[in-house]
Amino acid sequence: MKYFVVDRGDELSLRLTEQFHRLAHSYGMEQNEEKPDIVLSIGGDGTMLHAFHRFQHLVDELWFVGIHTGRLGFYADWTPDEIGQLAKLMNTPLEESNLRIAEYPLAEIQFTTADGIETYLALNEFTLRGIEETMVAQLNINDDMFEMFRGDGICISTPSGSTAYNKAVNGGLIHPSLEAIQIAEIASINNRVYRTLGSSMILPKHHHCDIYPRTKKNVQLSIDHLYSQRNDVLSIRCKVSPDKKIKFARFRPFPFWSRVQKAFIGTEFH
Ligand code: NAP
Repeated sequence: MKYFVVDRGDELSLRLTEQFHRLAHSYGMEQNEEKPDIVLSIGGDGTMLHAFHRFQHLVDELWFVGIHTGRLGFYADWTPDEIGQLAKLMNTPLEESNLRIAEYPLAEIQFTTADGIETYLALNEFTLRGIEETMVAQLNINDDMFEMFRGDGICISTPSGSTAYNKAVNGGLIHPSLEAIQIAEIASINNRVYRTLGSSMILPKHHHCDIYPRTKKNVQLSIDHLYSQRNDVLSIRCKVSPDKKIKFARFRPFPFWSRVQKAFIGTEFH
């Protein structure tokens, strides 16, 4: 098996990376940056975002596994003291390892500029925000005008990204087995003159939305942790990626709602 490790760069993550290299060597695994079969992310959910973007061109061909070195992760489900067990399971014949592949939907984001179309994949979300002035943007759903948005911005998230920025702007949490994207408003202006829906909306796989920025000034665009400021984007089409999903190798069950409960509620009841 060929593997590659992406780590957060802190002391614990670096130490675990070294430990994993030694274990992998003892099992005869080969480190391969060009075409790994499995990518380990050692750090937090942010580290998994880096790992995904580094290897997104191979997303159909590889599996991701996350070891968290901070708080519980949504993408990272192994703890540092389980690294030996994980290495062993990775080298156990498939039929004995209880391996299960969890596939999560991705969002496909297309920017149209005067020069053509740029296509990106988001694991968590895409956001569009005003920088120098209130952001004004027309939102169409399935090619029909839906509303004219005024406010700080718009967040389009995947189901697995629903626990990230989307949650901070009061979007709902979506189980990653549902193929959908969520449109959430970031501080919309709502009064007698300007009106938007106010609630977040969830679009199924066969629907799409288009956002037309109506400002000549720069807007901030983000795809996961990657940010840019531009004024040349004429429209942005957002939909569930029709053919790409991220695959996580699960060697034991860790239900999504248990992660949500542990991350946001905790185990103590009074
Ligand atoms: P970052 O520091 O890498 O991440 C910010 C926080 O978001 C970290 O605590 C990270 O967890 C957590 N996170 C990332 N993906 C998550 C997920 N799917 N579910 C729950 N928590 C998640 O920040 P960045 O590099 O600017 O942006 C990366 C991501 O951070 C973005 O995709 C966005 O979703 C999120 N973000 C959230 C807010 C907010 O909630 N107000 C603001 C900015 C960015 P770890 O500590 O485990 O890495």
